[in-house]
Amino acid sequence: MTMNRFRTTGLPASIRGTLPAHLDASPTTPPHRPRLLLVDDEPRVLASLQEMLKGSGYAITTADSGTAALACLAEMRFDLVLLDLLMMDVDGHQVMDFINQRDNKADVIVVSGTVGIDSAIGALKRGAHDYLRKPFSREELLRTVENALKQRDLQQINRRMVAALALSEKKYRYLVDASPDMIYMLGHEGRFTYVNDRACQMLGYEREELLGQHYTALLHAEDHERALYVFNERRVGERASRDVELRVTCRASPMHGHATVADTSVMTISLNAIGMHREKRDPHTPTYVGTYGIARDVSARKRAEAVIHHQAYHDILTDLPNRVLFKDRLGLAMLQARRKRAELAVMFIDLDRFKLVNDTLGHGHGDKLLQQVAQRLKDCLRKGDTLARQGGDEFTIVLPDLRSRDDARVVADKFIEQLHQPFDLAGTEVHISASIGVAIYPEHGESIDELLRNADIAMYRVKDLGKNGHAFYDPSMHDALHQNVALEQHLRRALERNELEMYYQPQIDAASGRIIGAEALMRWNHPVRGLIMPAEFLPFAEESGLIVPISEWMIDTLCRDMAQWGTDGANPLTLSLNLSPHYLDHSKFFETMRNALERYDIGPGRIAVEITENICIRNPQYAIEQLKKLGQLGVSVAIDDFGTGYSSLAYLHRFPIQTIKIDQSFVQQISDEDGHYPVVLAIISISRGLNLDLVAEGVETEAQARYLRAHGCSTMQGFLFHRPMPLGGFVNVLNS
Ligand code: C2E
Ligand code: CA
Ligand code: CA
Repeated sequence: MTMNRFRTTGLPASIRGTLPAHLDASPTTPPHRPRLLLVDDEPRVLASLQEMLKGSGYAITTADSGTAALACLAEMRFDLVLLDLLMMDVDGHQVMDFINQRDNKADVIVVSGTVGIDSAIGALKRGAHDYLRKPFSREELLRTVENALKQRDLQQINRRMVAALALSEKKYRYLVDASPDMIYMLGHEGRFTYVNDRACQMLGYEREELLGQHYTALLHAEDHERALYVFNERRVGERASRDVELRVTCRASPMHGHATVADTSVMTISLNAIGMHREKRDPHTPTYVGTYGIARDVSARKRAEAVIHHQAYHDILTDLPNRVLFKDRLGLAMLQARRKRAELAVMFIDLDRFKLVNDTLGHGHGDKLLQQVAQRLKDCLRKGDTLARQGGDEFTIVLPDLRSRDDARVVADKFIEQLHQPFDLAGTEVHISASIGVAIYPEHGESIDELLRNADIAMYRVKDLGKNGHAFYDPSMHDALHQNVALEQHLRRALERNELEMYYQPQIDAASGRIIGAEALMRWNHPVRGLIMPAEFLPFAEESGLIVPISEWMIDTLCRDMAQWGTDGANPLTLSLNLSPHYLDHSKFFETMRNALERYDIGPGRIAVEITENICIRNPQYAIEQLKKLGQLGVSVAIDDFGTGYSSLAYLHRFPIQTIKIDQSFVQQISDEDGHYPVVLAIISISRGLNLDLVAEGVETEAQARYLRAHGCSTMQGFLFHRPMPLGGFVNVLNS
C-alpha cells in the first residue's frame, strides 16, 4: 500500500532567517512500514493471525498476554493493534485504556469470538476502530486492517493539514503585523474589519477601538472629500488607488515623541487600496465586500519636502519670501485685482546707508540689522500683504486690495517711522532710514516686471532727492532714472578704469591759417558701446555729482597733455576748457586749478575757461566772485554758446570775461557769403562794443568762414578746419 504523506513546504531560507523559530517548524515525516501489534493469549490464534498477515508488508509484533501487550506498547509505537478482549491476566479493555493514555495512540481492531454486546460497546466507547468476529477469512482480516490503516492515514493527513493551516495563518499574521506598513480592511460600509499591529501602534489606538470604527473618524477634515474615493475603492488591479497622500489624525503615543497621551497629531500617509469582492454565481458581477488597503507613514518625507520647498521660496537670513515667491504672490494679487477692478501697490524699499553699517560694524551686525528691519516691516503689515527680501538691503511689498492710494502712503509712512527708531546691535545704537518707491497696478504697469521696475525707479528718485522718504512712480521719472542708475555705476567705473579721454579741436586764425589754440572736449571710450559723446553722459554726471571727480580728472589731464604740445615760446597756444556750472560752484574748484597749473608748470595765461551764460544768471554774485579769482590767477574766461541763453548786456559787462563764442547754431545759418545774418552781426558788434575777443565755432563751410571773416571775426573752430582729435593726432597736426 502506498501512502500520500502530507508535507508542508519550508519557507525560503531568506524569509526563514527573519522568522521566529516557533513559526518555522516545517515538519517532514518519512514514509514508514505500518507497524502492527497482534495480541491474543491463545497461541494458536496468535499464530494463525500472524500467518494470515504474512507477505502483506506490515511490520508485525506479537504479544501472548495482556501484560506482554502493555510492555510492547510502552516500548514502541504502533499504528494498529489487533486485540483479543478476553485474556486471563490483563483484559482487552485495560490494554485499550493504556493505549488511550499514550500520545500518537495506535488504532485498535477488536478480535474476538465470544464477546457479548457489552464488551463490544465497551471497546467502541474506548475508541476501537473496528470489530473482527472469529472465525474470519484472510480477506476479511486484510480488508479490515487495510481500511483501518487508510482511515488512520487520512486522519493523520487531516490533522497535519489543520496544523499546517494554523502555522500558515500564524506566518501571514506575523508578516502582516510585522510589516512596516499599516494594513487594514474595511467592510462595504467603510468600517474597519481588520487592522494590523502596525496600524494600531502608529495610529496610537487599541485594535478594539479601531475595529468597527468608520474610517472618516481618523481622517483630517480637509481630506474627507479626496479620501472618499480611496476608502470606497472598488476597483482592483491597475485601476485601483495608488500612492494617494492623505492626512490622518493619530493619538500621539510616546513612540511618536509627544508629551501627553491626550494629544493628537497629524500624520501623512501614502495609501494604496483595492476593492475586495466575493464571486457570485455570475463571475462578471461579483459582490463588493469591502476595501483592502496598505498605508505608509510618509510624514518624514513630507516634512523634508516642506523644508526644501520652504528654502526654495524663502530668504535664509530673514525667512521672508524670496523674489521668486514674491513674483508668484504678486502675479496672483494682480489677477485678483483685475477681476475686482481694484488697484494694488508694489513697494520697493532700499535702506539708506546700509553699506556703512556693513563696512563699519561688520557683516554679522549687518545681517542682524537686516533681520530686525524685516521684523519691523512685518509688524506694519496686514494679513494678506506680502513682504519679501529681494537681496542685499532691498525689500519689496505687495499691498493687495487697495481702497485708495492713501492706504499705500500710510503704510510707507509707517515704515519710515518704524525704521527711525534706533536699532540695537549688541549694544551699539544704529540709526538708519529707507527710501521707498511705490508703483500702482494697473496704472504704473500691467506686468510683474514693469511694476517692480517702476517701483524701483520711484525709489531711486527718493534717493536722488536726499533719501529717507517715499515717492509714487511717475512716468516722467522713467527715462532719465532708469538709464541713469546703470549709467552712474558705469561712469564711476569709467573713471577708475581710465576710459575717459580728452580730445582737442584746433582753433584757427582765419587770416593766417595758423593754429592759435584748441578746445578740449571730453570723450568716453566705452568698452562695449564705443565712443560716447559728452552730451550723452555729462548731463548725468552733473546730476549725480560725478561731475566733481570727472572735472578734477579733466583739469589734471589737460595740464599734463599741454606739456606735450611743445609750442614755441613766441606764440604760445591757448587751451580752452569747458567748465560745468556744478563744478564752478564747488568750493575746491579754484584750488584744484591752481595746483594743477603749478604742478605742470603752466602759465595761467594759456588757459581759457568756457562757461555758459546760464551760470552767470543762476547765481551771479557767486559766479562773479569765482571768475574774478580766476582772473587774479591769470586764467581767462569765455562765454560759450553765446546768444542761446538769457544773455543780458546789463549782466555781461559786469563779468570778468575776455571772450565770447558765437554759438554754432547761428554760424550754421550762414549759407551765402553775400547774405545777411543779423544775429551774427549783432553778436559781432557786441563783442566790439565790450572789447571782447570773438570765436566762431561750428564752422563747416568756406562760405561761413568767408562771411565771418568779412564781418570781422577771424578766430574760428569747426569741421572745415579740424575735427576734435586725440592728443596724438593734435600733436601731429601741430608739427606738420
Ligand atoms: P561746446 O562747448 O559747445 O563744444 C563744441 C561742440 O561742437 C563739440 O561737441 C564739438 O565737437 C562740436 N563741433 C566742433 N566743430 C563742429 C562743427 O564744425 N560742426 C558741428 N556740428 N559740431 C562741431 P562735443 O565735443 O560733442 O561736446 C558737446 C558739449 O559737451 C560741449 O559743447 C560742451 O558743452 C560739453 N563738453 C565737452 N567736453 C567737455 C568737458 O571736458 N567738460 C565739460 N564740462 N563739458 C564738456
Ligand atoms: Ca565749449
Ligand atoms: Ca559751444
